[in-house]
Amino acid sequence: MGNQEIIDLSEQYVLHTYNRFPIAIDRGEGVRVRDADGKEYLDFMAGIAVFALGYHYPGYDEAVIGQIRKTIHTSNLYYHEPLAEAAKALVLSTGLSKAFFTNSGAEAVEGAIKAAKKYAWLKDGGSDHEIIAMNSSFHGRTVGALSVTGNEHYQEAFRPLMGGVRFAEFNDLESVKSLVGEKTCAILLETVQGEGGIYPAEPEFLEGIEAICRERDILLILDEIQCGMGRTGNMWAYQAYGVTPDIVTTAKALGCGVPVGAFVLGEKAAKASLVPGDHGTTYGGNPLATAAAAAVFRIFEEDHIVERAREAGDYLARKLDELKAAHSSVRAHRGAGLIRGLEFEEGTSASEIAGKALENGLLIITAGGNVLRFVPPLIVSRDEIDEACAILDRIIP
Ligand SMILES: *Cc1c(COP(=O)(O)O)cnc(C)c1O
Repeated sequence: MGNQEIIDLSEQYVLHTYNRFPIAIDRGEGVRVRDADGKEYLDFMAGIAVFALGYHYPGYDEAVIGQIRKTIHTSNLYYHEPLAEAAKALVLSTGLSKAFFTNSGAEAVEGAIKAAKKYAWLKDGGSDHEIIAMNSSFHGRTVGALSVTGNEHYQEAFRPLMGGVRFAEFNDLESVKSLVGEKTCAILLETVQGEGGIYPAEPEFLEGIEAICRERDILLILDEIQCGMGRTGNMWAYQAYGVTPDIVTTAKALGCGVPVGAFVLGEKAAKASLVPGDHGTTYGGNPLATAAAAAVFRIFEEDHIVERAREAGDYLARKLDELKAAHSSVRAHRGAGLIRGLEFEEGTSASEIAGKALENGLLIITAGGNVLRFVPPLIVSRDEIDEACAILDRIIP
């Protein structure tokens, strides 16, 4: 089937919950994909920050296929090696204590919320605990994750949502302080807000929140589903701050394409929260998903992927500064490592630019607030960055 045939068939049978770009992706190689008509594109969205290693990184396919040949499912009623290996890698890299694997990011957030509630419940037996989350955040589409997503448009039609959630302003410590009370069990935020427009947490903000959490025994939950796994040039974005969360959520790049997420608990939360009977999943942590995650961690270490991401990120930052200097329609450039945004002035639409980029052979997406979002594979080369920026230089007014 070619592009148009696939699009027509999809529009006939797939529930229309996405306004998709008008191509069907057929395959990928490295940092490039091909559509069903055979046209090639440079991929600077990486399946929404999923393909950290690009497509078919040496050793990755072999690990996944090898596991398929053994078994792809066991249920969580038995032990298996890929789960043990992936959990070890996740715990060692985060510096935390215990991992629980999920099938998606939203489920990782759900688990983190439950762990925080259970931690507080064990302390005081209360059933009215509150979570402080941030405006313009994104944590996923399930009801619990949606309840902590600070976006009126996403929430509106689905009320009543989970109660006990209060929203503070991101990067405004006073607004967080004003909401903290006896009932607060957790403060939840993205270390770098992704969907909301690529806003890194300011150091004073994150350090201030950590101090509040330590002082009042509140759990600090960092959602690194988008910004973790090397994307900022550190394995975990919080590691650039010297802050230690009580719970971290991850997903997107964790399996580099195989659906897998996780929440990881620090020692304090791991010792006094979820126990048998409290939480579970049939698929979560299955051998296929965790073999992929274990392979990703192994490749990251052997091939110094985080260092490469940091270097590529520095280079991309320079090129985006140049684009900003050359085009008055660019209002701001923000980000860290290989998660960056170009914000446009009113009158220039980031989504129109993304559409034109597609026509010119570049896959790139937007984020909230008229922002063009750059989340390429972490293995992107300088030449590929030059190529993408040259395309944008031609398109941006
Ligand atoms: C994508 C994302 C999620 C949701 O992950 P899904 O796998 O789509 O459920 C949650 N938090 C952040 C920060 C994300 O970027």
